[in-house]
Amino acid sequence: MTKPKINILLIYTGGTIGMVKDFKTGALKSFNFKNLLDQIPELQLLDCNIDTVSFKNPIDSSNMNPKYWVQIAEIIETHYKTFDGFVVLHGSDTMSYSASALSFMLENLAKPVVFTGSQLPIGDLRTDAKENLITSIQVASMQYKGRPLIKEVCLYFEYKLYRGNRTTKLNAEHFQAFASFNYPDLAESGVHLKINQKYLFKPNLRKKLKVNKNLDENIAVVKLFPGISISILESIFNTPNLKAVILETYGSGNCSTEKWFINLLKESISKGLHIINVTQCSGGSVVMGHYETSSALKKIGVISGKDITTEAAVAKLMYFLGQNISGNTFKTKYETSLRGEMI
Ligand code: ASP
Repeated sequence: MTKPKINILLIYTGGTIGMVKDFKTGALKSFNFKNLLDQIPELQLLDCNIDTVSFKNPIDSSNMNPKYWVQIAEIIETHYKTFDGFVVLHGSDTMSYSASALSFMLENLAKPVVFTGSQLPIGDLRTDAKENLITSIQVASMQYKGRPLIKEVCLYFEYKLYRGNRTTKLNAEHFQAFASFNYPDLAESGVHLKINQKYLFKPNLRKKLKVNKNLDENIAVVKLFPGISISILESIFNTPNLKAVILETYGSGNCSTEKWFINLLKESISKGLHIINVTQCSGGSVVMGHYETSSALKKIGVISGKDITTEAAVAKLMYFLGQNISGNTFKTKYETSLRGEMI
């Protein structure tokens, strides 16, 4: 008996991968999906069925927002039963945010959702798009004992598969555009496609997929710098409807110990604002209390983002605020890893 073919759904949202140069201005802009597929006849050679869904108006991912995340989540929800894996074609600029968001939105996900894109359009002679796309489809098609091998949202770019919510875009020019500083690669593509099985996410397979679409955008990200002023910070922290702030601090979660600064945070927390401490460093973790310059934050109830990326911190925050979690449990829940996004 011949094995049934694996079914993969390709979701095209936009990004450089499908762009062409505007002949008047020379700027790259989104192109139509049909044309993109025509550029890769190799797809016919893959041992799986590929179906496609495209955003009506493909976007440059700099225009990404939570409404589009819901759109991607709904496409996956609608086709969840019929497909074995999903590949999302997405611009690289905000891909880490989207992969993080989808990881929280798709609760009990038991199939692969692989985000990919490229630095050069697929029609370019030196494009990185073909390898990224073909290997992403192969990764999404991998099975073990008749079930998908990968059961999480990941990101594939330039020979590496990463956990999506652990990635950061780190280079606007190199083909190796992404990195995962705080979590090992899930797979590496060389002569063989080597999967690091022990690092794969293991969801509870008894639970059904639940798609969380309620995201609350009333948050801010504040990056500290030496000399940041009280008036700027006050105006941010007193923004109407603001529910939470991600504070990008120095090193292992350190900040100024000046009274006005700590008092501002303390007052904001007492008014019900959630403050998350995330490091500005690319790698490593927040450890409040390790230095004197972070002890006060711990004392006043700042939430530790541990080794989370800012991208995942933003997504987790919008997701948690959308869940209406009560003030008391918010801190404990936020500090607990949900989809492998933190230690
Ligand atoms: N500006 C593009 C985008 O994010 C860059 C890319 O696709 O690599 O849509």
